[in-house]
Amino acid sequence: FDMFVLAFVERLFRSTYKKDDIVLGKKLGEGSFGSVYRVSLAKKTSSKGGDLVLKRATEYGAVEIWMNERVRRACANSCADFLYGFLESSSKKGAEYWLLWRFEGKATLADLMQSREFPYNVEALILGEVQDLPKGLDRENRIIQTIMGQLLFALDGLHSTGIVHRDIKPQNIIFSEGSRTFKIIDLGAAADLRVGINYIPKEFLLDPRYAAPEQYIMSTQTPSAPSAPVATALSPVLWQLNLPDRFDIYSVGLIFLQMAFPGLRSDNSLIQFNRQLKRCDYDLVSWRQTVEPRAGPELRKGFEMLDLDGGIGWELLTSMVRFKARQRISAKTALAHPYFGREGLLALSFIQ
Ligand code: ADP
Ligand code: MG
Repeated sequence: FDMFVLAFVERLFRSTYKKDDIVLGKKLGEGSFGSVYRVSLAKKTSSKGGDLVLKRATEYGAVEIWMNERVRRACANSCADFLYGFLESSSKKGAEYWLLWRFEGKATLADLMQSREFPYNVEALILGEVQDLPKGLDRENRIIQTIMGQLLFALDGLHSTGIVHRDIKPQNIIFSEGSRTFKIIDLGAAADLRVGINYIPKEFLLDPRYAAPEQYIMSTQTPSAPSAPVATALSPVLWQLNLPDRFDIYSVGLIFLQMAFPGLRSDNSLIQFNRQLKRCDYDLVSWRQTVEPRAGPELRKGFEMLDLDGGIGWELLTSMVRFKARQRISAKTALAHPYFGREGLLALSFIQ
C-alpha cells in the first residue's frame, strides 16, 4: 500500500510533458520501430534546463515506457534517466509513443570503441582529464576492468529488478557525462519476467551479432505467457529454472572480447568471429587453440592482456561466453570475480 501511495504522490509532483513543449533537434538514431532525436523544451516549460532525448516509437513504445518506469523506481542508476512517456495520437502517421530522457552524453560505447584512442579516451572521460602517463598493457587492462565493472553493475541492477535487456551491445550503452559512468539504454526489447511483460521472446528484436546462441530466452516447455498475478507468483521459480539473465551475460562477454581485441571491433570481424566460434561449438578455449598459433600482434596483445594476473581476465571472459546459459556466470557473481579484486575496485572507486 505504501508503495502505491508513494508512486501516486510521485506521479502528482513529477513534470509531465506534451508534444507542444518539445522542440526537435538533431536526429540521433533511426530504428525499424522508431526514431530518436535530441530535443529541447519550449521556453515557457523549461523549468529544469538541459537537453533531452526523444524517442518516437511505434509498436514497442508501450513496453519501453513500462520498462523505463520500472527502472526509474527500482534501479535508476543502471539506465539513462527517464523523464516521461505518453501516447501522442495527433500525429499524421497515426498514434506514436513519445518517450523522454535526459541527454546523457554524446558518445555510446560503440562510438568510443571505434576510436584509435580506445580505451584511453574512456579513461579521460571517467577521470575528467587526460592522464599524462605512459601507455601500456597494464593501464589498458585497468581501464577495461573499470568499464566491465560499470557494465556488470548496471546489468546486475536490471537483473535484480527482474528485467532482462536482450539487446546489450555497445550501441546501447551511453557514457553519462554527468555521472561519468556508462549507462544502459534502449529497453525496447527488454522483458520483465516478474510480471510477465513482453514475456514471449521476440527473436526478431534481437541483434544477431551480440545474441547468445539459445534462440529462445525461456525454454519451450515453459507455459505460455502467464497473466500478471500468476506470473508474479511463478516467475522467481521460472527465473531460477531458465536463468534468462544469462542471455545478457553472453552479450556483455562479447563486448569484453571486443574491448580486449581491437581486431574484433568492427561488425564484419565480429560476424566472422561468431562463425569461427560456432565452428568450435561455442568453446572459447578451442577457438583460442585454433587462432593463437597463427595470431598477429594485435590478437596476441589481447591474449596477453587477458592472461595478466594468472589469467583472471581470460577466466572471466570464458565464464561469460559459454554455450549453455546455466554455465554462464551471473552479473552479481561476476562482480565478485577476482578480476575485479583490489586494483579493479580501486579503479571503480574513482567514479563514485
Ligand atoms: P534505437 O536503437 O531503437 O534507435 P536507442 O534508444 O538505442 O534507439 O537510441 C538511439 C541512439 O540515440 C543511441 O544509440 C544514442 O546514440 C542516442 N541516445 C539514446 N538515448 C540517449 C540518452 N539518454 N542520452 C544521449 N543519447 C541517447
Ligand atoms: Mg539502440
